[in-house]
Amino acid sequence: MTATIIDGKASAARLREKIAAEATRLKSAHGLQPGLATVLVGNDPASEVYVRNKGKTAEALGFKSAHVALAADTTQETLLAKVQELSADKSVHGILVQLPLPKHLDEAQVLDALDPAKDVDALTPTNAGLLMSGRAHLVSCTPAGVMLLLKEYVGDIAGKDVLVIGRSLLFGKPAAQLLLAANATVTMAHSRSRDLPAIARRADILVAAIGKPELVKADWIKPGATVIDVGINRIDAGGGKTRLVGDVDYEAARAVAGAITPVPGGVGAMTIVCLMQNTLIAACAQNGLPLPKF
Ligand code: NAP
Repeated sequence: MTATIIDGKASAARLREKIAAEATRLKSAHGLQPGLATVLVGNDPASEVYVRNKGKTAEALGFKSAHVALAADTTQETLLAKVQELSADKSVHGILVQLPLPKHLDEAQVLDALDPAKDVDALTPTNAGLLMSGRAHLVSCTPAGVMLLLKEYVGDIAGKDVLVIGRSLLFGKPAAQLLLAANATVTMAHSRSRDLPAIARRADILVAAIGKPELVKADWIKPGATVIDVGINRIDAGGGKTRLVGDVDYEAARAVAGAITPVPGGVGAMTIVCLMQNTLIAACAQNGLPLPKF
């Protein structure tokens, strides 16, 4: 068997079209232009690339985009003041503070200063709580992207055994909530789980968000299962070069799984588009307009 390749790039492109059309409609019908502000402290090259891509995508979709670049030695007070200023700015509907922050800064305090209505990464305790209550309209971007891929490639997941490996606030926990809300039987595993291969072999859908290159082996996968690889790991490819791999041993897993996401071109492609979707939703919510459904 060779697995169906889950084409995140193609799904992301389709969603992007819908968002662009809705942004155009909002502008002409309501004079509303969604605005996204990104904040980056320091000059980590990978973070700079991520933030630049977010700004470019926002602009390509007709959003207003603003970027705040702060020096690596910025104080907590300066960062908090900036986040509060953006929270009060009516032309900014979504605020993204690129994480991780430099070590001397307190992330939790920064998230507390962020207006939850503008928290397009859905990392504030308010949005995490709303998700648990089944009342969130801003949902963490990567888990939201995974749910869209599952909807497209699996359909109804009610009653399916789903394993999420990884329990981070950014991915594992919100993903488990969304899967549960979709009526899956959800198991969460982490670094203290015992006999992970045996747990994995029971899963109809295996979601790996670990950050360990190719940890999940082909013989952990139930034949025909759907494999969603969230991991993005840069490894040495020899000759001074590097390449990206996921948390799943992709080449071997393809022979066992029913469907699988590649890295890159799978989950990662969805994340940035889901961020734009959140910005659009935030703009509508802040202006008393019906929330777009895609
Ligand atoms: P994280 O905060 O480092 O969490 C990793 C999780 O994996 C933790 O819960 C940890 O368990 C668990 N873990 C570590 N080693 C394990 C092992 N040997 N067996 C089982 N579980 C293990 O990472 P994250 O932010 O969730 O990200 C995970 C991966 O996804 C990274 O590669 C990241 O780059 C990628 N990612 C991609 C996107 C995207 O857009 N595609 C978005 C977000 C993240 P403990 O809790 O017990 O420590």
